This record gives sequence, C-alpha cells and structure tokens, in this order.
Amino acid sequence: MSTPRIEINLKKIAYNAKTLSRLYGSKGIDIIGVTKAVCGEPNVAAVLIKNGISILADSRLVNIERMRKAGIKAEFLLLRTPSLSQAEAVVKYADISLNTELSVIKELSKFALSYHTKHKIILMVELGDLREGIMPEDLDDIIKQVLELSGIELAGIGTNLACFGGIKPDEEKMNYLSSIARNIEKKHGIILEFVSGGNSANYNWFMSTNYAGKINNLRLGESIYLGRETLHRKPIPGLYMDAFTLVTEVIESKLKPSLPYGEVAQDAFGNVPEFNDRGKINRTILGIGLQDVSVSGLTPRADMEIIGASSDHIIVDAKKTELKVGDEVEFDLNYAALLSAMTSPYVLKKVKVNLWMPKNIAKTLNKNTADIKKTFQPSLLKKTIPD
Ligand SMILES: *Cc1c(COP(=O)(O)O)cnc(C)c1O
Repeated sequence: MSTPRIEINLKKIAYNAKTLSRLYGSKGIDIIGVTKAVCGEPNVAAVLIKNGISILADSRLVNIERMRKAGIKAEFLLLRTPSLSQAEAVVKYADISLNTELSVIKELSKFALSYHTKHKIILMVELGDLREGIMPEDLDDIIKQVLELSGIELAGIGTNLACFGGIKPDEEKMNYLSSIARNIEKKHGIILEFVSGGNSANYNWFMSTNYAGKINNLRLGESIYLGRETLHRKPIPGLYMDAFTLVTEVIESKLKPSLPYGEVAQDAFGNVPEFNDRGKINRTILGIGLQDVSVSGLTPRADMEIIGASSDHIIVDAKKTELKVGDEVEFDLNYAALLSAMTSPYVLKKVKVNLWMPKNIAKTLNKNTADIKKTFQPSLLKKTIPD
C-alpha cells in the first residue's frame, strides 16, 4: 500500500469518545467533539456522533463544510473567533460560533436575519490564558447589546485555557466561570444553554473536583484522539493512545558513518548542524519529511532514533532493527504531528474499520461497530481514501 500514510483506527476513536463522554457525563458535563486535528475527516466525525457526541466543533469553516457535504448530521460549532469578512459564511455553515467582538456579532446577526434564521453564539470570557476572550468586567455591557440583536441567540459563555499562556483550568478558574454564569442568568433573566469550561486540559480539574458547578460542557480533541490530558500529556487511564499510526517506507538503508565528513557549512534550512560520532550505524532514510509532517512530534514504535529530517527525508539510526528498502516503519504522533499529517495532501488517509482487538474491548464495541458500519456509506469511504 502506498506511503506515507496515516492509519486511522475508528474503533479506538469510538472507544475513547464513548469512554470520555460517559466519564464527563457522570458529573453533568457534555462533550463537544473537536475535529480540527483530523481536518474534519468525515469518517472520524461519523464515529464521534455515534458515540455520545452530538455537537462537532472545528476552527475552520472549510472543515465544517467538508463534514456537512459528506452527510454528517450534527450541530456544528465554529471554534475560532470569526473574522468580519467571514460572517455570512459562518451563518451559512455553522450553527454556533464562539465570539468575543461585538462588531462581528452584529454582522452575524445581520446575515442571520437575511437568511431568516438565528445564529447561536457562545461568548468567550478571558480568564488569564490571554488568547480569545472578553474581559469579565466588560461582559455585562456586551451581553446587554447582544440581547438586542434579533438575529442572535446567546447560547452560553465559555473559556479557553492552557492554549496560549499555558494557564491551568483549576478549581478557582472554574468556580469563577460558574459564578459569572450565575450572575448573567440572574441579572439578564436568561438561561445559558452552555457553560463551556475548556478543552482536554480540564481533565485534572474534572477528576479532582466533586462539584462541576455550572460547567456543563467541554470541547475535546486531543484526549479523544490521543488518549491523554494536555496539562502534562499524561495518559488517561483506559484510553487508547495509538488510534493513529503514521506509516513510512524505507528508501535507503546502509551501514554508514554517523558523522558527516568534509568541511561543515549550512544545511538545507540555514542551520549549521552538529552531530555526535557514534561510529558506523544502520543509517536508514524514510520517504517522508518536514513538508509532510511535524517530524519533532514523531516517536518510532520500534527501537530506533530519528537523527534528523529535511523537506522530504527522515534519517533514522535503525540501531539493531534490520531494515531493507521497501520495509514500513511506524510512528506514534503527538498533536502537532497529527494535525500536520492530517492536513498534508501528501499523506494518504487510510481509515481502518476492522482491526484486531482484545476480546473484552471487542465485546463492548460490538454494538458500536454495527452502528459505525451503518454510518459509513461506502461512497463516503471512497471519497476520502484515494487508494
Ligand atoms: C482546539 C480547541 C479546543 C480543543 O482542544 P484540545 O486540547 O484538542 O481538547 C477547544 N476549544 C477551542 C477554542 C479550541 O480552539
């Protein structure tokens, strides 16, 4: 089969999604499935909505459009604060959007009215991470104006932490968001459908708290796909961490020196490289490079080491692993690597439906799998796997 390719194990994603939605559901929190790391891949989206998730969120409208066109039936939320010039398309393709700017919300309202619809918004509140968010002291004034826009339904408030500033979503931040929600409901006489407390970084807070307060929603990507929380990148017990596999192919394999020889100047990217001399090594070249994937986010499954990469090549020390030209080499991906490989037109997306699984897990999944199969129209598969 052609390489490089990313193999997507839908059963493992299904299991992670179901497990997380049950876990968070136990304290009254619903999950929104975030699809940006998989580029809105419709097969993945279909699995999420069959496993306890009814709203899908993406930062890009083109991904939302892709999922809608593939026939995915869900509510769609736009994660990235819409740009003013996008307002009409946001109303057309997204049911809900996260917002922080009144001028944009007014524009959304205008287009919603012209389409005879209401556009739902969640206002994002700044709690210290300093990416998107309205300062808490400015909220009341903005809400007053939002409530006057007849094309807009204020569906809730939310916050996003641990993304830019690395700020922890802890008990204090979550209680603060809850108290803001309570005040808004009281002061403006409305009910907020969503109080969205954050993302995969909220796992540690969730596990340590007995009371989620008004927080009734989280937007999860990484923990569904890679089975871990994102404050320390620790595994979430019981989840699969290997739902995605990057498969590459050996294009050269030779016993060669570890130290380049000749006069040292710049490499392809303008750096002057430095290497350790470890004698002759099983130097192996893989037919994939920086143009395909964020190489620093790859971990080989077998005992070997990535020495470096250029646009189209990864060089590994294969150590004791015997590799010949044509052999396949598998990697785990971190979030950045997943995002880049899923977005790259050079990496084939290979959806795996029927994979071997331990019996106990296969049992719990049997019902799901029937569901999954029902969701896959073969036409959908054909479209996304250019085999
Ligand atoms: C990407 C994103 C998420 C999901 O983050 P994960 O760490 O993948 O769970 C949630 N909310 C917003 C606003 C995002 O941009």
